[in-house]
Amino acid sequence: MMSLRLPSIDGLLRHPACAPLLERHGRESLLASLRWLLDELRPGVVNGHLSAIEISPEVLAGRVGERLAQQQRSNVRRVFNLTGTVLHTNLGRALLPDEAIDAVQMAARYPLNLEFDLASGKRGDRDDLIEGLIRELTGAEAVTVVNNNAAAVLLTLNSLGARKEGIISRGELIEIGGAFRIPDIMARAGVRLHEVGTTNRTHARDYEAAINPRSGLIMRVHASNYSIEGFTARVPTAELAELAHRHGLPLLEDLGSGSLLDLTRWGLPAEPTVRQALFDGADIVTFSGDKLLGGPQAGLIVGRKELIAKIKKNPLKRALRVDKLTLAALEAVLGLYRDPDRLAERLPSLRLLTRPQADIFAQASRLQPALADVLGETWTVSAVHALGMIGSGSQPVARLPSAALCCRPQVSKRLRGRCLLNLEAALRGLPIPVLGRIDDDALWLDLRQLDDEPAWLAQLPHLQVAP
Ligand SMILES: *Cc1c(COP(=O)(O)O)cnc(C)c1O
Repeated sequence: MMSLRLPSIDGLLRHPACAPLLERHGRESLLASLRWLLDELRPGVVNGHLSAIEISPEVLAGRVGERLAQQQRSNVRRVFNLTGTVLHTNLGRALLPDEAIDAVQMAARYPLNLEFDLASGKRGDRDDLIEGLIRELTGAEAVTVVNNNAAAVLLTLNSLGARKEGIISRGELIEIGGAFRIPDIMARAGVRLHEVGTTNRTHARDYEAAINPRSGLIMRVHASNYSIEGFTARVPTAELAELAHRHGLPLLEDLGSGSLLDLTRWGLPAEPTVRQALFDGADIVTFSGDKLLGGPQAGLIVGRKELIAKIKKNPLKRALRVDKLTLAALEAVLGLYRDPDRLAERLPSLRLLTRPQADIFAQASRLQPALADVLGETWTVSAVHALGMIGSGSQPVARLPSAALCCRPQVSKRLRGRCLLNLEAALRGLPIPVLGRIDDDALWLDLRQLDDEPAWLAQLPHLQVAP
């Protein structure tokens, strides 16, 4: 038997089958991939396990092409969020409106007046770019913006309460996803935790009794991802602010998602607004840019002028500040709030949150045959009503009436779990990964957020579920 020999690297580089790869990926990348492949094949050739076809230039070019294409695919990928959770922290939270995307493009492409006052020609402050809008929309005296709300809380606590005591109710010592825990953040900010009251009930007299010469501030935190029901008591912000001010202490309120407008006008559950918290007397309010506000990741710190000035002087501010792309997006999103009547059409997160259930159900009914067809006899696929949620710590118990494609495996109970995981993996393996949720022995695709129906349908034929 004649022994086979691998083609040479030079021969392959010059071969017409490799020409398109050379053109697309460049010589360095192609060379590295060819070397990798030949190294991998060499033992097979020596042992005589490979056929002449398997080491032909055409086949080798095909394999190298696949590897190069895979290397080129970015790690940051678009997905379909059909989990039913609209502001999903692991999936990037709020989607930006076109106005913000245009602003980000402009800021990315050209120099801009990030810290430059065009009127005077002097050095400016990046917070000035959005201060006017925030003041108008919240009634705050001043504002500063940082990387996210966790940073906003850390910076505020450190600026106003370092080496002093921070008084907070035991019912508000919360943990948010991703290891953000109020007691830990307080400690890192150099503020000594002084907890008062109980988990379910905290009274004005509890705060009052805690105040001493070492007190630096009173803090209030939105419970965000859990709710206390039943025998509960909480001091209204206005009363707590009056108490704090009587003792010369600032009241800090971490609102979390912090809505700028009353959401009940769109039929959504009530969330405290930033304006109301300030009106009630909170001296500083902190909230996220990419939760209910519907903008880019950011942490907004708003409130009394002299306190904001103190916060801005903290050297930590420099470490936590936002970049030009964030500011450009934030200004554009805030601008949309000037016209609340059209906000639900223009702000994607609000548009998705307010999508009527009937609309989503009609979409589920429309798409059901296509999915049922692809999944075949092992599955029953039905269009059903479902309950989603806002996400990102807004209204943990409230449910959004929605609709879903519900996929149930028609197999014995013993095989069901495996079957569901296989479908979940196959959906994740699609060109645009589709993410649903498994619940009650079924896989649910909540369609509230499916606005690109053609792209979703077009990739269905690629779905291959392991048996
Ligand atoms: C979400 C949340 C945070 C953290 O905000 P990020 O923008 O995710 O950093 C802090 N406090 C509360 C009450 C929250 O709900």
